[in-house]
Parts: sequence; C-alpha cells; structure tokens
Amino acid sequence: MSVELKSAPEIDRMRRAGRVVAEILDALEAAVAPGVSTWDLDQLAERLIKEKGAKSAFKGYRGFPAVLCASVNHEVVHGIPSRSRKLVEGDLMKLDFGVSVEGFYGDAARTVPVGKVSEEARRLSEATRESLEAAIAVIQPGKRIGDIGYAVQSHVERLGFSVVRDFVGHGIGRKLHEAPQVPNYGRPGTLESLRPGMVLAVEPMVNAGTAAVDVLDDGWTAVTLDGRLSAHWEHTILVVDGGHEVLTRSPARTTA
Ligand code: MG
Repeated sequence: MSVELKSAPEIDRMRRAGRVVAEILDALEAAVAPGVSTWDLDQLAERLIKEKGAKSAFKGYRGFPAVLCASVNHEVVHGIPSRSRKLVEGDLMKLDFGVSVEGFYGDAARTVPVGKVSEEARRLSEATRESLEAAIAVIQPGKRIGDIGYAVQSHVERLGFSVVRDFVGHGIGRKLHEAPQVPNYGRPGTLESLRPGMVLAVEPMVNAGTAAVDVLDDGWTAVTLDGRLSAHWEHTILVVDGGHEVLTRSPARTTA
C-alpha cells in the first residue's frame, strides 16, 4: 500500500481532529482518580465526542465495543472499558483515544498515574514519554521510518526497558490505520523516507520486563507475558517542510 500525502484542506481537518483528541484526553486525564471505573471514562469520552460533533475512531472498529481503549498496569493496549474495573491508588492507566472529524482521523495515547504510583511505574511512563519526544524530534523530510524506531528503542533500552514488537504505529488520515507501519524499533536510515504531507501516529509501547505480549480471551486486551508494567504514549504528527507539526498536542501542555 502506498503512502498518501495529505492536501492542505485535508490537513485542516486533521488539525481539527487532533485538537478534539487532545481536548478530550485532557478531560479524561483530569477524571482519572481512585474509585472511577474505566467504563466511567469511556462514558465521559463518548459524551464529549458528541458535544464536539466528532465521531469515535475506535467504537465498531473491527467490532471494538467502546470509544476508549483503557489499559491498566500489565495491560499493554486495547483494554475494554468495564464497570467492574474501578481504578485504585497506584494503578498505571493508559488512555488511548481517537476521533474523526469530517472523515479524517486523529489518534493519541497517554499514560496517567492513579494517585501515587511506584517508582518503577513513574520511571517507565517517563521513559516512554521521552522516547516519543525523541522520535518526534527526528521527524522531518529526508529522515526515514527507521530513524523513528531507532529513536524510541535506543532511548528506552538504555534505561533497561523493552519495546513491544507486536504492535506498531501507523500512517493515519482518511483511515485510522494507513501505510506505512511505524515500528518502535529499527535501524537509522532504513525504511520509507518521510515527505511533507505524510501524517504518522507514533506510539511507543514499552514494558518494564519482557517485550513479549499475549492477547486475552476477550480477543482485544494485550497484556505483558510476565505480568509486569507497560506504558504507552502516542501522538499524530504531520511532516512539514523542514520539520513536523504535532496535531494532537494539548493546548495546555508543551510536551506530550
Ligand atoms: Mg494508534
């Protein structure tokens, strides 16, 4: 599948989709607290999507039942929100969320501590967020997809963590998942060259222990094989002349 370059009017829609994703993630992050269920967060997200006149990117995608992927602790990605999963102090919550606006998608994820978390949880989330920022920093025309993966992998492995191989980032636009795939590992100077108008969802998933994951019987929830913690951060990023523009950056923040 070839990589689609976006036109100026398409990029405008993607900016709006990215802004909605950031605003709703801000609200979800603020709502994360002990006693709140992952289902409560999904309901809040669904209400805000309607308010903003957007559409869910995830609900109904290959049958996924919710607008939010809510993964806790050893759950890596694609956790299904549940009334019975109430957050408790010390949980490491991953919010993965996407919408479309006028047919164009935005996708982002954040790792949020529930109250006070362990030192390992804090370090893992921070390393993963930094690896996303390191990847964003290399994005400009002429760099390659392998440079992105290398930036993520080299950062987190230096800190003793491991990069999930089974799930990767992706092109995004008229569809939630487009070419090219964007692995969170790789060698500099390899794979597809970045060009202005490309839009990528870069999403490091990083484990405290083994990189190996398994998928639960619900067919969705990916968990670490060793039961140790996992963290996930994601942004949707446009390649522009001389650099990049992060489309899902919160208006309230300067970094992920
Ligand atoms: Mg994604």
